[in-house]
Amino acid sequence: MEWKISQLDVDRVQEFRKCIECFLCQDVCHVLREHDKKEQFAGPRFFVRIAGLEMHPLDGHDRAGLLKDQLGLGLCNITKCCTEVCPEEIRITDNAIIPLKERVVDEFYDPLTMLFRKIRGR
Ligand code: SF4
Ligand code: SF4
Repeated sequence: MEWKISQLDVDRVQEFRKCIECFLCQDVCHVLREHDKKEQFAGPRFFVRIAGLEMHPLDGHDRAGLLKDQLGLGLCNITKCCTEVCPEEIRITDNAIIPLKERVVDEFYDPLTMLFRKIRGR
């Protein structure tokens, strides 16, 4: 099967692949550092990784429940400290975290989606 992927979609995912796993973003995140929410909150490095999977044009897996319930995405209050320290200049908050938050909102808080979920029994 032949796939055609737009350059925009390629670039979007490539940004997340630049991560060198320095974990500076995890280190400065106040949710982890000051509020010690390590049990409830995965942290920016892992959200970048998930964004790289989620935004791949051929990826069809639904991670909204995982992000909301197990990885604590809602605890991020988009202060952007993680973005400021990233040596690879990955726009962690704007390009990874906020779009992931939008997916969670669409899946769990959009009235139409909620209605469909009810009808489907999920
Ligand atoms: S934007 Fe979110 S993940 Fe990044 S440092 Fe702030 S609270 Fe942590
Ligand atoms: S600061 Fe940037 S390069 Fe370092 S782990 Fe976080 S996302 Fe990856």
